[in-house]
Amino acid sequence: MESILLLAHVEADGKLAKPALEALSAALELGADPGAEPGAELGTHLTVGLVGADAQVAAGQIAGAGAVRVMAVTGDAFAQPRYATDAAAAEALCRAAGAKLVLAPSTSRWSRALPGVAFRLGGRVDTHATGIAILNGVPAVTRWFYRQRMEAVLTRQQRPWMVLLDAGCVPAWSGDAGVAAVETIAVEMPPSRTEVTGIQAPKADQQTIRPDAKLLFVAGAGWTKKQADGKVHGAEAESLILNFLRTAKASLGGSKSLVDLSGEGEAVLQFMTHMNQIGQTGSTPRHPKGLSTCCHGEEPHVVGWRFITERRAINLDANCGWARGKADVLYVADAFEVMREVNRLLGQEAPRG
Ligand SMILES: Cc1cc2nc3c(=O)[nH]c(=O)nc-3n(C[C@H](O)[C@H](O)[C@H](O)COP(=O)(O)OP(=O)(O)OC[C@H]3O[C@@H](n4cnc5c(N)ncnc54)[C@H](O)[C@@H]3O)c2cc1C
Repeated sequence: MESILLLAHVEADGKLAKPALEALSAALELGADPGAEPGAELGTHLTVGLVGADAQVAAGQIAGAGAVRVMAVTGDAFAQPRYATDAAAAEALCRAAGAKLVLAPSTSRWSRALPGVAFRLGGRVDTHATGIAILNGVPAVTRWFYRQRMEAVLTRQQRPWMVLLDAGCVPAWSGDAGVAAVETIAVEMPPSRTEVTGIQAPKADQQTIRPDAKLLFVAGAGWTKKQADGKVHGAEAESLILNFLRTAKASLGGSKSLVDLSGEGEAVLQFMTHMNQIGQTGSTPRHPKGLSTCCHGEEPHVVGWRFITERRAINLDANCGWARGKADVLYVADAFEVMREVNRLLGQEAPRG
């Protein structure tokens, strides 16, 4: 088995986040002896390379993963997300570990830094991998192409081969914490013009995109259309949707028609942006369940539902796209009425607009 390096950033609390623990599961599985039980310990093939202010707590967090060698590049400069420092740290860890395969979670930091590191090392990089396994004796990466329409399995001869693993594809590693030895790799702070002065982000309860949510709630353009009384009910639509998201802790998706409307500054669904768009030209999130409302279920939209396990839709039109084998359950009903009742049952009756 080829030697493996797993790269991970240490978070502000000193620990490793879920995407890093998922990548650790994938690395352990990949390096396990052929014939061993899935998840068996890897032994010395695996090195974990940590980058952050300090690595001791994170190393201890994964001590239960077995005889894993831990190296780290540490210091305040390496806690901040910045290409120059992330790339310098990753390059130093790759050279020190001498690994042929380098795995990392598809975080924004690694996605930005690792292609450049692969170039510096004369290696190759593949992004958005959904799995990695041994096939015919060599590592093979699974990923989707053409907006998630075709799944390919690919191998490469060039080394080091860097693979960025998408989140949500394998269970996160969990095990006992302990004490682990950390080998420190010294890296000079490279010349940099970038200073991180802070992070601006919406408050957690204002954030509508929640990758870890159990439910994806999709709103379509129907919410903004004239209803049976000949009027548009934008304010009520906004309140019904936001109340539901708050109580169900669901993630919010939108159809292209709806997010385009919001982008034009229409007075409806102000919280909807292009970041919420699901589909061929939008995103393809992973959630166990999905509920589509006031959305027609056309193919360019539904292609973004590929990784939603159980699909339900509410539409007034019994002949909408969802009725054609795209949803497990279609409620032919008025989404305003249904969501009013759902919110009432959830104990949060929404005010009428
Ligand atoms: C190249 C290309 C790429 C595209 N990429 C994407 C993409 O990434 N994502 C995407 O979403 N689309 C994409 N589209 C557009 C897609 O084809 C559709 O036009 C779009 O998804 C339609 O959005 P919608 O269903 O919300 O709106 P509409 O088609 O207007 O449907 C509104 C629905 O709401 C229902 N409705 C209205 N009132 C109610 C009510 N009270 N209760 C219940 N139901 C109600 C109506 O019956 C209707 O079915 C793409 C198109 C092209 C050509």
